Amino acid sequence: MKAIRVEQFGGPEMLKLEEVPGPQPGPEQVVVRVHAAGVNPVDAYVRTGTYAYKPNLPYTPGNDAAGEVLAVGVGVKKFKPGERVYITFSSTGTYAEQALADQSQVHRLPERVSFDQGAALGVPYGTAYRGLFQRAQAKPAETVLVHGASGGVGTAAVQLARAAGMTVIGTAGSEDGIKLVMEQGAQHALNHSAEGYLDELMKLTDGKGVDVIIELLANKNLGRDLTVLAKKGRVAVIGSRGPVEINPRDTMPREADIRGVTLASASEAEYREMHAALTAGLENGTLRPLVGKKFPLAEAVRAHEEIMQPSGARGKMVLLP
Ligand code: NAP
Repeated sequence: MKAIRVEQFGGPEMLKLEEVPGPQPGPEQVVVRVHAAGVNPVDAYVRTGTYAYKPNLPYTPGNDAAGEVLAVGVGVKKFKPGERVYITFSSTGTYAEQALADQSQVHRLPERVSFDQGAALGVPYGTAYRGLFQRAQAKPAETVLVHGASGGVGTAAVQLARAAGMTVIGTAGSEDGIKLVMEQGAQHALNHSAEGYLDELMKLTDGKGVDVIIELLANKNLGRDLTVLAKKGRVAVIGSRGPVEINPRDTMPREADIRGVTLASASEAEYREMHAALTAGLENGTLRPLVGKKFPLAEAVRAHEEIMQPSGARGKMVLLP
């Protein structure tokens, strides 16, 4: 089969399309014919070799994908060949024509959800769910700021928060992005590149601030986030690309919390909860993954160049084998 291989850590040009043997399923494992693979910023961080997690070389990148079951190993009872599924982790990598996954990381893909959309689920929707519900403990009737609402995680957070009965304010860096954020169900959208947009947010909340902030670029925003939180407010830090200065005093009168989020730290029970909730939302149509740029597998280099661009996100980027 064809797969992207990384022989050495480095820039996007390290992603090479090669011919490799297809995976064989061991006990409790499933081989999936990949129709679409999700491209996440973390795939680019790992490729540089400077990230906390460093795979053994050579390796095939990617955790997210959707496709059809090709083969199952001994002890797999939940799935059979031909079924439509999405996967949330692959030991062989998803930037390939086939990917191997443990059956616990394979989930049925509802008929109304396309393979491209299925590739947007694992990391983006899983992280948005974990940030909103498992870490920030967001509740119906609360107000949520999704700070960076136009990308993979942000669009998921907007849909999840809106479906759960929250008032959602999303941000994007362009007029197109703002339109897209409103289309995902936000009641309000602001431009995070515009002067004074957080004053606008305070007006929208009658000066009270927001109960929860889902923060996708904390190194830019955390200091100011703490000034627009309501009493007992929580910031869930999902993305950060460097240090930032905060005034700890801003947390005191509000008794505010800053809570870190790592999808990979979810327990097995939390993963089960997450994917049961996501499947329900996909089935009833409240969750509609938004697919942005699509590239053929052979153009993985371009995908990695673009995923790290500072602005212009439009939902989830996918690779098509
Ligand atoms: P993405 O699809 O590339 O989206 C990036 C988002 O950041 C876009 O909405 C972009 O908006 C927004 N952004 C740009 N400048 C901003 C600013 N000044 N303030 C607020 N937002 C801004 O990436 P993604 O997949 O959603 O991931 C977002 C971040 O979360 C990445 O850093 C990623 O590594 C991290 N992440 C962490 C975890 C975890 O477990 N903690 C899991 C998944 C992702 P515009 O393009 O419209 O400007």
